[in-house]
This record gives sequence, C-alpha cells and structure tokens, in this order.
Amino acid sequence: MTPALEATGLGRRYRRTWALRDCSLSLPPGRVIGLLGPNGAGKTTLLSLATGLLRPSTGDVHVLGRPPRSAIAEVGFVAQDKPLYRSLTVAETLSVGDWLNPRWDLALARQRMARADIPLRQKVGSLSGGQRSQLALAMALGKRPKLLLLDEPVADLDPLARREFLKILLDEVADSGVTVVLSSHLLTDVERTCEYLVLLAASRVQLADSSEALLRRHRIATGPRAQA
Ligand code: ATP
Repeated sequence: MTPALEATGLGRRYRRTWALRDCSLSLPPGRVIGLLGPNGAGKTTLLSLATGLLRPSTGDVHVLGRPPRSAIAEVGFVAQDKPLYRSLTVAETLSVGDWLNPRWDLALARQRMARADIPLRQKVGSLSGGQRSQLALAMALGKRPKLLLLDEPVADLDPLARREFLKILLDEVADSGVTVVLSSHLLTDVERTCEYLVLLAASRVQLADSSEALLRRHRIATGPRAQA
C-alpha cells in the first residue's frame, strides 16, 4: 500500500538553523497519526513541506505517492493560525472553497457546520476559537481529502472543546478511511486518538511506530527486568 506520507532525508534549513533535519519516515495510510513534539521541534515545518508550502533544503517528500504539489487537491490542511477572513460570513467562507476546488463538497462542509451548531450567516470575526477550529476543519473536509494534515488544531481550545474536536476526528473523519496527521505538544491529545505516533524533538525524528509497539517497548523498558 502506498504510504500516506513518505520522507527521505528530508530537511529544511533557515540560514544556519535546521528547522527539520534528516527526516526519514513512512506513514501508513488510513490511520490517525500523532505528530508529537515540543515548541520548535519542527512539526509545522514537516507539515508545510508535505503540503508543498515549503521546499526542502535536503531530501524529498511524497504524499499519497506523489510530490506534494501534484497531490494538493487531495490533501486537506488546517494551518496552526487558521487563516480565515473575519469579515466574511460562514456561508461565504464555505463558498470560497467552491471557486477554488473542483472536488469541493459544499453540502458536506455545510453539514459539518450544522453538526457544530454554527449558523451559516454568522460573521467569521465573531466566532469563538473552538468554532473557528470547526470552520477550518469543515474547509479542509470539504475538499474530500484522502490525507488530512492538522497543525495543532486544538492548541487554543479548553479541555471540553478539545475532547469534542478529537472525537469528531475519530468518529467522523478517521472512520471514513481518511489518513489523519494531527500535531500537538501534548501526549494527552494524541495518546488515545492516534494509532501511530511520530515524536519530533530538536528538529529530528526521535521515534516513529504504531502506538501499540511504542507502548510495548515502553513496558519492556520500564518492566521488572529493566528496573532490576
Ligand atoms: P510550535 O509547536 O512552537 O509551533 P513546531 O514544532 O511547529 O513549533 P517549527 O515551527 O517547525 O516548530 O519550527 C522549527 C524550528 O525552525 C524553530 O527553531 C523555528 O524557530 C525555526 N523556524 C521556523 N520557521 C522559520 C523561519 N521562517 N525562519 C527562521 N527560522 C524558522
């Protein structure tokens, strides 16, 4: 099966600073994948390289078996700062997707807003942080993506809104076979949601494996023999 995302020796440098260094990964399709790491670890850089927004300094990356720019129509991306026009209504924002993307499913995006109880006539500027996250998610899902990349989508949300957002990802998105990559600083956001984990620190991939395998390794490492 074609990996959802495959990186080989991928790196990005800004002058002397490596934002991401020598990253080699193969992410399985159809899973919910957690991209975990502290501030400055390189999470946004990796996701931006995968969407083609950034070009690599070294190595290369393929998404859905293709270079990022060829796959962009099938990749949904929720950026960390959720760039949305404050003066538009929710309905107008969703219509923008219609002009930009031939695959755009307006009904699906509107349905998401209805489920989140967000009126279509409301101005984006008056939405709460949680509602903006829901709108950004609806914009990404309206593309009917095969791969959904979410850059710290729950960072600004309170614990209840966080749980609700993650539940939607599991119950509605992942269940439909979309590969989801979710970045966060917090293990609590990803440990229950994600079946596969990538740990980034100091611009490098430190670990990448199924959550089950990582947990098993952790148990072996901290089990009675390791402690003896
Ligand atoms: P956070 O959790 O804080 O969003 P992150 O894991 O997403 O962090 P990145 O935003 O990918 O990390 O940044 C990785 C490193 O690259 C950081 O040291 C950052 O300062 C540096 N960096 C990112 N973008 C630029 C840029 N445009 N110019 C210079 N350095 C940059």
